[in-house]
Amino acid sequence: MNLELSEEQTAVRQLAKDFVDREIAPHVVEWDRAEEVDRSLVKKLGEVGFLGLTVDEEYGGSGGDHLAYCLVTEELGRGDSSVRGIVSVSLGLVAKTIAHWGSEEQKRQWLPGLTSGTQVGCFGLTEPGTGSDAGHLTTRAVRDGDDYVINGTKMFITNGTWADVVLLFARSTDAPGHRGVSAFLVPADTPGLTRHTVHGKLGLRGQATAELVLEDVRVPASTMLAPEGKGFSVAMSALAKGRMSVAAGCVGIGQAALDAAVTYATQREQFGKTIAHHQLVQELISDIAVDVDAARLLTWRVADLVDRGLPFATESSKAKLFASEAAVRAANNALQVFGGYGYIDEYPAGKLLRDARVMTLYEGTSQIQKLVIGRALTGVSAF
Ligand code: FAD
Repeated sequence: MNLELSEEQTAVRQLAKDFVDREIAPHVVEWDRAEEVDRSLVKKLGEVGFLGLTVDEEYGGSGGDHLAYCLVTEELGRGDSSVRGIVSVSLGLVAKTIAHWGSEEQKRQWLPGLTSGTQVGCFGLTEPGTGSDAGHLTTRAVRDGDDYVINGTKMFITNGTWADVVLLFARSTDAPGHRGVSAFLVPADTPGLTRHTVHGKLGLRGQATAELVLEDVRVPASTMLAPEGKGFSVAMSALAKGRMSVAAGCVGIGQAALDAAVTYATQREQFGKTIAHHQLVQELISDIAVDVDAARLLTWRVADLVDRGLPFATESSKAKLFASEAAVRAANNALQVFGGYGYIDEYPAGKLLRDARVMTLYEGTSQIQKLVIGRALTGVSAF
């Protein structure tokens, strides 16, 4: 693997840095306090091409490889994890999954809107009773003539109240466990689908997280994505790439923690000198730096494998596991460097820690990543 970025990758990274510094950084505290990112940002993300990365230009995408996608995702994570999550879900989990599994008609129906930012997608897998054990989800899709009628509840759905389309997973046959699950592309304005904002989150406060309730939601059979019974494969393939995107976002959190800690440590004085002179503060900073570098290299390795068409799922779990735990450590170490000022939201460390904390929980908890990695190494499934 060549660790030197190409001209295109360097340019897209700079574009993302400039975008974050101009369009996101000035608003981060305000959006966090208001519990809402300014929705007009989605259109801007589309215009600059960040919602179409790796998607073919014929469907409105902006092309590029997965390393470029990770570079942009890292920068967005450095700026605001709430914004990074909007892109990771609408592009990473929804548009890219449609691009991979969709029929020609489904691609033409949804990809131009999602990649341009005129539409938003969400990923409806988790339910109140099934999180880690997603294969036993209970949302039901019953065939009725040329339609399916869907009933159930989805929980913690990122972009849920903003979305135009829900990539929804529901049980459509009596086959046991994950074999009975199918995927559907449900327009969010379909009668019977209601959305309720989840308030009071520890972090990612600017993000529109929702509970989705489906009561006799009727959709044509043509909304099924991939063959019947393949829904769990669709979900797992989306999450394998999604974990790379979460890992890249975590690298961004770590980089933001590092930048903030270095700046503060070289300005704040105690005992007659800047706190950077105190070796134990240097230890905090060097611990952050090593975590960030290691997480970035693990993430880039996944992107390289994806771009070369090689198996990547286990490496993606390793990157997500390490990068998410590292982001929590990095943000916590940065908060320590800030002392008492780290505890109030005018300074960045507290928000970085709050935002980092969910990374070890969603798209598979750290425990689930360990089971995935352990299964790959031993051939024994603990699920
Ligand atoms: P549980 O599965 O109940 O787990 C509880 C604890 O038990 C965890 O520590 C877990 O690691 C542990 N555990 C469970 N099973 C095992 C096992 N076999 N071995 C060892 N330990 C185990 N979901 C979506 O579908 N779409 C989204 O867009 C989305 N966005 C989210 C955004 C936010 C802010 C949050 C908080 C969640 C989001 N989720 C989303 C849901 C997320 O993926 C789940 O919360 C996650 O998968 C964990 O499920 P759970 O919360 O039900 O925890």
